[in-house]
Amino acid sequence: MIDPFGRKIEYLRLSVTDRCDLRCSYCLPKGYSGFEEPQHWLNFDEIERLVRVFAKLGVGRVRLTGGEPLLRKNLPDLAGRISSIPGIHDLSLSTNATRLDRQAESLKAAGIDRINISLDSLVAERIEKLTGRNVLGPILSGIRAARDAGFRLIKINMVIIPGVNDGEIREMVRFCMDHGLILRLIETMPMGDSARSQGFFDLQPVMRDLMEKYALIPAVLPGGGPARYLQTPDGRFSMGFITPISRHFCETCNRLRLGVDGTLYLCLGQEDKIEFRQLLRADASEEMLEAAVLAAIERKPERHEFRESPQKIVRFMSATGG
Ligand code: SAM
Repeated sequence: MIDPFGRKIEYLRLSVTDRCDLRCSYCLPKGYSGFEEPQHWLNFDEIERLVRVFAKLGVGRVRLTGGEPLLRKNLPDLAGRISSIPGIHDLSLSTNATRLDRQAESLKAAGIDRINISLDSLVAERIEKLTGRNVLGPILSGIRAARDAGFRLIKINMVIIPGVNDGEIREMVRFCMDHGLILRLIETMPMGDSARSQGFFDLQPVMRDLMEKYALIPAVLPGGGPARYLQTPDGRFSMGFITPISRHFCETCNRLRLGVDGTLYLCLGQEDKIEFRQLLRADASEEMLEAAVLAAIERKPERHEFRESPQKIVRFMSATGG
């Protein structure tokens, strides 16, 4: 699948729920209750049917996300169904890890190759303030369980919020170095009012500072995402920078996002979308689904406008599938 800007589309981020057990200040607004009704959630048969169509058209990578994907019942069952679809060569998971210690082994056995874990601070009180819950302990147990289950590539996602955790970057680098984790620093995207109110922290100076301190050199890591990676000269530690504001990465965008209700979002920072639930529930043929996907690709926007129009996106990350 090639979009109108010559980009090869081969990566699907699949939101299996829009619910989350945390309320990160830059993501899900506190007190939010407008979640999708369960009857609107695509069921596993519907998801599998649609992913088969995407795979046939050239999608080889799928990431399970949300909301918090581990809240969806029987997730390993879904993971197993997706990993056995011909053409899917990379199945990964994004999670906040609060429930990972109980599920890491079954998710690995189901064919998940790689795992990304959100961790914005190593200070328990700060995590509680940021997420609304005292969950540093369970998250660290989740990280340990993922390593014990044999996940080799574990990436830590740290969203940097000015005045909150920007002073903690070096500690997080040290922590990830010591524990064999890949660290990714992320600029907050202005999605929804709660995210916009957090302010913007430019990661370019941080990148220069860390490059100098650790003599970091460019690196290439597995994964289809937007991070630019660097590594220490001995290759033992890698880290990535996701900088949608200070240096956007739209020219290499290769992905689509499917919401739990079957809405296909063509860009995180634009409103373009196509609804698949009605098609699936009206028993659309495989040819009709393929035609709908190909028509969607023709409408993929060139880029987001987080910098030029930060007020534009009213839906927040958890609703889209981050
Ligand atoms: N619950 C899972 C998790 O914690 O990874 C998956 C969904 S979460 C929306 C995926 C990632 O998006 C997390 O790393 C989160 O920190 C990030 N995220 C959420 N809102 C964001 C925003 N406004 N800007 C940048 N990253 C954001």
